[in-house]
Amino acid sequence: MNQFQYMRVTNPKAAVAAVSKDNTTMFLAGGTNLIDLMKRGVEAPEKLVDITRIPLNTIEKTATGLRIGALAKNTAVAEHELVVKNFPLLSMALNAGASPQLRNMATIGGNMMQRTRCSYFYDTALPCNKREPGSGCGAIGGYNRMHAIFGTSTKCIAVHPSDMCIALVALDATVNVSGPKGDRRIPFADFHRLPGDTPQKDNMLQPGELIMSVDLPMNGFAGNSHYLKVRDRASYAFALVSVGVGLKMSGNTIQDVRLAMGGVAHKPWRLTEAEKFLKGKPATEATFKQAAELAMKGAKGHGENDFKLTMAPNSIVEALKTAAKTA
Ligand SMILES: Cc1cc2nc3c(=O)[nH]c(=O)nc-3n(C[C@H](O)[C@H](O)[C@H](O)COP(=O)(O)OP(=O)(O)OC[C@H]3O[C@@H](n4cnc5c(N)ncnc54)[C@H](O)[C@@H]3O)c2cc1C
Ligand code: SF4
Repeated sequence: MNQFQYMRVTNPKAAVAAVSKDNTTMFLAGGTNLIDLMKRGVEAPEKLVDITRIPLNTIEKTATGLRIGALAKNTAVAEHELVVKNFPLLSMALNAGASPQLRNMATIGGNMMQRTRCSYFYDTALPCNKREPGSGCGAIGGYNRMHAIFGTSTKCIAVHPSDMCIALVALDATVNVSGPKGDRRIPFADFHRLPGDTPQKDNMLQPGELIMSVDLPMNGFAGNSHYLKVRDRASYAFALVSVGVGLKMSGNTIQDVRLAMGGVAHKPWRLTEAEKFLKGKPATEATFKQAAELAMKGAKGHGENDFKLTMAPNSIVEALKTAAKTA
């Protein structure tokens, strides 16, 4: 590992000021992703700004819903009574991620900012446009079993690895950030990017911007929510495909629905067409299959990940059945 300086800050202003000075300084939260990347030489910051002493770990009610501090730990959020009661989808998605030890360290902001798990990205001997723009994409035509089937580009076919983010995009979250130019709010659906010609950029944060918190609007999905994660091992494995569902039911009719998929794109993948189709329909397997077919429009495999073209629609149907309690 390269030598680096370490500093602690206790307020957002100091954190933003320290990281805005140059592009070789990075925020350090739980360290569960950044330190791994530094050990492998993928990231080489000259200075780390430890933000864990900033009091941004509260989970509190707001006039419209819930605000979760960016430094709240994954475990604390997953187990918080207001989250369990009102947003069980978020609780389920968090608990499906990593291991208990990792969830005790990992923060909400860090989870959003974690980098892809593409093996070419982690191996500095191999080509990767995300790690080294212009070097090529090893996964296209290479080992791509974990890779994307939606929204890919000729430069990158990686997926965003987070489970939590699938729940947040389904639940219409908003991200509050603070930066050198002031504060702003970013709808969660716009926070992460597709790879396009600049796969090195994962999200819409500007240099020096600090994630402060995430807002969740109250909704009526708590009674019929489900997070389905299909993976190679029962724990400690990233999603091959995951589906987050929230349904608002009136008898057997779907009044409203939120649906998103993970493991399939460079960003959390919201299924808006399928949502539109499902509204007002009866909660039957036939309806769910039609919704899944709609959701798969435009999907494309890259060889080793072709199985996702079958696994993804089957997972959508399964998750909808479980959420509707018709399984
Ligand atoms: C073995 C293993 C298995 C895992 N399995 C899963 C899994 O199944 N599902 C899943 O979702 N995740 C999984 N993870 C990833 C884990 O959830 C992330 O590593 C973790 O959430 C990152 O949070 P952190 O606080 O440790 O971030 P850090 O490692 O401290 O930081 C990550 C990045 O976020 C930036 N950052 C942190 N906080 C902020 C902020 N407030 N504002 C702006 N930038 C910020 C940092 O600068 C850095 O670039 C796994 C990790 C490991 C090591
Ligand atoms: S898929 Fe993206 S992250 Fe993976 S090798 Fe290609 S450019 Fe790099």
